[in-house]
Amino acid sequence: MKVASILVLGGGSAGLMAALTLKRKLPHLSIRVLRSPEIGIIGVGEGTTATFPRHFFEYLKLKPQEFYAQAEPTWKLGIKFIWGPRPHFYYSFAFEFQKRLPELSRNNGFYYQDDIPWLGHASAYMAQDRAFPRQPNGLPRFHNNHAFHIENIKLVHWLENQCASSGVMITDATVQAEKGGNGIQALVGSDGTRYTADLYIDASGFRSELVGRVMEEPYVDYTDSLFCDRAVIGGWQRTYEPVHPYTTAETMDSGWAWQIEHETFINRGYVYASAHISDDAAREELLRKNPKIPHDRTRVVKFRSGRYARSWIGNVVAMGNSAGFVEPLEATALQMICVEASSLADSLGDSLCEPGDSMVRLYNRYNGAQWDDIRNFLAVHYMFNTRLDTPFWRRCRTETALHGAADIIDFFRENGPSVVAGAALVHPSNSFGMDGYLALLVGQAVPHGKPYMPTPTEEAFWRKRAEGLAAEARVGMGVVEALKALRQPGLQWG
Ligand SMILES: Cc1cc2nc3c(=O)[nH]c(=O)nc-3n(C[C@H](O)[C@H](O)[C@H](O)COP(=O)(O)OP(=O)(O)OC[C@H]3O[C@@H](n4cnc5c(N)ncnc54)[C@H](O)[C@@H]3O)c2cc1C
Repeated sequence: MKVASILVLGGGSAGLMAALTLKRKLPHLSIRVLRSPEIGIIGVGEGTTATFPRHFFEYLKLKPQEFYAQAEPTWKLGIKFIWGPRPHFYYSFAFEFQKRLPELSRNNGFYYQDDIPWLGHASAYMAQDRAFPRQPNGLPRFHNNHAFHIENIKLVHWLENQCASSGVMITDATVQAEKGGNGIQALVGSDGTRYTADLYIDASGFRSELVGRVMEEPYVDYTDSLFCDRAVIGGWQRTYEPVHPYTTAETMDSGWAWQIEHETFINRGYVYASAHISDDAAREELLRKNPKIPHDRTRVVKFRSGRYARSWIGNVVAMGNSAGFVEPLEATALQMICVEASSLADSLGDSLCEPGDSMVRLYNRYNGAQWDDIRNFLAVHYMFNTRLDTPFWRRCRTETALHGAADIIDFFRENGPSVVAGAALVHPSNSFGMDGYLALLVGQAVPHGKPYMPTPTEEAFWRKRAEGLAAEARVGMGVVEALKALRQPGLQWG
């Protein structure tokens, strides 16, 4: 198959990110996005991981200043979990649990204490409600361990502008697919217009028009690990609340709730299992715990967790929700779109736009494993959360299938937060790494066989270091101050 033209079915974040990535990396390709004004976009998905800025500003070399001006994000350094028996714990993007300091005999994870819930710079900043160190010129000093909170509609708007200025064509049309020998033959609009290309990207969201409906690819169901299948979403205009540099994930009776920090709006969503709570009862619980949400401004979104067995079949590649979905506990959907889009761009580029069977097989293997890694990691969040004793959480603790995380859990139960097994048990392409597992296992106070009592010298060092980190963070910049600094008139971006 020689690829010179691509049709992208879908103008949500997945379709636009795929089109933009392919056009930036392979500018000679002709790329058109087809999107249905009648169907619209899902319009949720507001937290990212640190993969997102790396994808756009390093891999695609887009200008951050346009992103800040149009998408109006705030920063996210990680997640604050109100989860497990501790008051709370922080999971930063900075891989802090596996670090070993020269003054200590073990890696950081062994020294975690409830009264100092930070292990390094990133979590110290989170705990002090600060986002970045301050530079002498009054600007924030960015680091590589941040992600964003972005309102979906603003993200899509920025992506549309970037697509247009990169030469991607965007056409409004509701289409139906015609199947052909190698996959899809054409997409046909309701006015009879036929759209054809060498390669079709299915970014049609949960409908999965091409890979699911037309190609009838088998679905790999994740519901033995992930029991939640709905979310009720609401929010309120911010008044005096601080803009936290993290997403909050709070345990609820039959699931959990996110709190996402936009500059002028606070977004909350209760992700729940419909087998354990009705839509009305979930809505009532969300409103009871968040009385500022206007009662007439909630909506329920249904989803299923799983992925298609292959996402690249013949001349069709699925991306985003049409390829797979896991619930948003680690906000990984936009990350997966980055991974899918960049691996497709690299596969096409390296094969001189003539990908053979081995490239397609590798693409499917790699991306399938990425989805499964997320499922495995999320399973650990559910299996060990002892905060509430409700039927839902009792079921999670007894029935959650750990799949590929089982060996990591066995190792942790015997050896505690040791990093010795890191590379052997967690594949290098796993975006959470052993550190992510340690953060969740230590954070949830999962018992293990090798508790370590630091020596008095180590204890004194650890406390002094923690105080120093907190003091440094306290003079850093909060989200609001950092946004203001970036908006000074005439600011020159480096
Ligand atoms: C409750 C919930 C919370 C989430 N939170 C997060 C989060 O915090 N972080 C995160 O990264 N992700 C999150 N997500 C995932 C988020 O939805 C996706 O990241 C993202 O928005 C991708 O959507 P999409 O582009 O695949 O689908 P959609 O936005 O649904 O877009 C589908 C597109 O296909 C078009 N289309 C469909 N059929 C046709 C047709 N026949 N003809 C023409 N056009 C068609 C539609 O018009 C639309 O343009 C969340 C999802 C849910 C359900």
